[in-house]
Amino acid sequence: MQAFNYTRAKSIDQAIATAAQATTAQQGAEIRFVAGGTTLLDLMKLDVEHPVQVVDINRLPLSSIESSAEGGLAIGALVRNADLANHPDVRARYPVLSQAILAGASGQIRNMATTSGNLLQRTRCVYFRDIHSACNKREPGSGCSALNGYHRNLAILGGSEHCIATNPSDMNVALTALDAVVSIQGPHGRRDVPVAEFFVLPGATPQRETVMEPGDLITGVRLPKPTGHAKSLYLKLRDRASYEFALASVAIVLALKDGRIQQVAMAMGGVGTRPWRSASAEQVLRGNAPSPDLFKRAADAFLASAQPQADNRFKVELARRCLIKAMSDVSTAA
Ligand code: SF4
Repeated sequence: MQAFNYTRAKSIDQAIATAAQATTAQQGAEIRFVAGGTTLLDLMKLDVEHPVQVVDINRLPLSSIESSAEGGLAIGALVRNADLANHPDVRARYPVLSQAILAGASGQIRNMATTSGNLLQRTRCVYFRDIHSACNKREPGSGCSALNGYHRNLAILGGSEHCIATNPSDMNVALTALDAVVSIQGPHGRRDVPVAEFFVLPGATPQRETVMEPGDLITGVRLPKPTGHAKSLYLKLRDRASYEFALASVAIVLALKDGRIQQVAMAMGGVGTRPWRSASAEQVLRGNAPSPDLFKRAADAFLASAQPQADNRFKVELARRCLIKAMSDVSTAA
């Protein structure tokens, strides 16, 4: 691990100012905020991340979960994953979020990991974590070892010739299906970004994973008011039953009215370079009565643009079955 400067921020403004000052002084050198540290510290020990300035934000007042004026939920950036998953309002009104968080990591990690850290979780591509391998995400322009190497667990949707790494988070999949909004504060002020626009596709710049700019700090996440009679669930398929990342997962929110699908939002994890949402699949479902044939057509629409590699072709059929099972189960419950 390389030496770095450490500062403990006492306020949001101080955290942002420290990061901005360090960015200016070091001419774009890497600045990182640290909270739970469950990703950052691992990557610093592996020399994948080597910030010159680490700003500890654990003392900032961003650990509350409160009802919003619009009837939704305002979640502070530093709310621990375990506290969020077990919060009574989340369990009752947003069960898909609770299920997704509890499907990820271990109890110990969920006790430390935070909402904002989960949003910024880095990929688990093995070459990204190995500094001796070519990896465009870690070292732009060096190449992608995964394309002709081990890519069984990587993306079939949203990849490019430069990177096919998956976003590893379960929480982010549920937030995408829930139309969450990410609140960001930075050197140039505050802004709200819908989570569907927060993650960017790798394209020719896979090192850039989100719309975050240097010095930006996530301050929280807002969930809209849920539709009263909607049902939701998170279905995750993986190689082993716990402490494992998804090969394919689905977060779905669905409401029926008079026997027809009135509202639906469906996102997938484990298959895309970002949590994946398909407007065309939801369009297939909306206004129609649930049926096995309808679910198959929606799953086909969802995966129409899939571009698997040699060793992850199985994911197309796995994702299809995962989608159909999730749609069937949530429709039965609705
Ligand atoms: Fe790096 Fe992305 Fe290629 Fe993995 S898939 S080696 S993260 S560029």
